Amino acid sequence: MSLPHAVLPGSFTKQIATVGPACKRPETLLEMIRQGVDVFRLNMAHGTIASHEATLADIHRASDEAGRPVGVLVDLSGPKIRLGTLLDDPTPCRHGESFEFVPGDTAQRPDQLVTNYAPLVEELSVGDRVMLADGTVSMVVLDKSGGSVRCRVEDEGSIRSRQGINLPGVQLSVPSITDADEEHAIWAAQSGVDFVGLSFVRGTQELRELKNLLRGHGSSAMVIAKIEKKEALERLEDIVRAADAVMVARGDLGVEIDVAEIAVVQKQIIETCQQLGRPVIVATQMLDSMHHSQRPTRAEATDVANAILDGADACMLSGETAIGDYPLDAVKMMNRIMVATERMSHRHLPAAPQLATSHGVHPITSAVVYGAAQIADQLSSNLIVIATRSGATALVKAKQRDFIPTVGVSSSPEALRRMCLFWGTYPLAGAPLDDPPALRRFVSEWGLRNGLLTQGDTVVSITGTGIVHRAHNSVVVYEVEAR
Ligand code: PGA
Ligand code: MN
Repeated sequence: MSLPHAVLPGSFTKQIATVGPACKRPETLLEMIRQGVDVFRLNMAHGTIASHEATLADIHRASDEAGRPVGVLVDLSGPKIRLGTLLDDPTPCRHGESFEFVPGDTAQRPDQLVTNYAPLVEELSVGDRVMLADGTVSMVVLDKSGGSVRCRVEDEGSIRSRQGINLPGVQLSVPSITDADEEHAIWAAQSGVDFVGLSFVRGTQELRELKNLLRGHGSSAMVIAKIEKKEALERLEDIVRAADAVMVARGDLGVEIDVAEIAVVQKQIIETCQQLGRPVIVATQMLDSMHHSQRPTRAEATDVANAILDGADACMLSGETAIGDYPLDAVKMMNRIMVATERMSHRHLPAAPQLATSHGVHPITSAVVYGAAQIADQLSSNLIVIATRSGATALVKAKQRDFIPTVGVSSSPEALRRMCLFWGTYPLAGAPLDDPPALRRFVSEWGLRNGLLTQGDTVVSITGTGIVHRAHNSVVVYEVEAR
């Protein structure tokens, strides 16, 4: 299919930005939305519930002011194991030196290590690898005695209090949803956030538990499985099926597995998500050097483009926006790379399946969405409109990756915000859904105003007539009239 001459405001690929001290001022949030942020991530590893609550209110205000729905992702830390308080901060770890894990949360000697996960000393075995400081420092367990574990530094570097500990391949009994996660998830549910991510997913059970917890508190948030453990890769298909969306969480994944394998694993995860109809986010270090630079490296610009070429639905900024010196420049740069990559490469994007399907979506809906795109292509339409209650039909369309700009309309604000994560889908608020002629005028007006449509253009609209329960069964084609 060919790329129409007009495109949606912004890019087809969605952008997620992590909120932190560097960007949480209301005017910065507003400008980030204007420059292309579709979803804000609140990282529960930092800050308090009260501070996140204030940020959430600011995001809602900024979204109203920008006149555009914006999604919110609450990212739960999961069973992340951390160092406690070290005696020296930072502590240098030199090759061959030995360190000792001891009980408690505060080290008494410079060569002592402590952790927030008390059973660690029990659960480590001789020969296990302990990775610190984001994988820069590695140690190997030499021996265990009297409630402590002695390790030797293999790869040297320096460590700080409360940094994460990665234990590749070590079977831990730590629960997948911690007490803190539960508290954060309940807050997320009660606050009406749109996406809840779970870190360090190892199986499908924790995804079901999280979903039940959210549903039990009245939330229909989509659950995002963060793929950052080897165990998750071993059960990838089942996990993708059990999740509503997926994140390639390369920060921890690149420590838990060999960093040399990351590129191919990213492609495998994206491919699986494409086949199973789940949105997929590529995350971490995408524009890392922009923490302290106004320009990305060539490799970073290429990384964002390659994620899009791999078939990512969304790309994420982490520290770049949360604690970096140039949060707005990072957002603008990511958006520019997305737009340029889409414009230059649409014929080379991975071939979509003939019929995009998604678990739980009626086959009539999938077929109708596919057919509507064929009609739009035949007529060189610049716009498909989907009226959707939950957003599910818009997701089928997004996964078709056909480059026909799509507007999602819904009477549900939740559905509109969910569509903020769906590739090539623009959630358009305020549409008069109960009055078809008024809806057509509303969409045409919007398209004319945004330079997407001109008089005489055809628009293809997809709706459900109610004849088939839970299916979109109707396609209407119309021409844009003069204003
Ligand atoms: P994090 O997750 O930033 O919460 O650690 C993303 C990643 O690990 O890549
Ligand atoms: Mn992580």
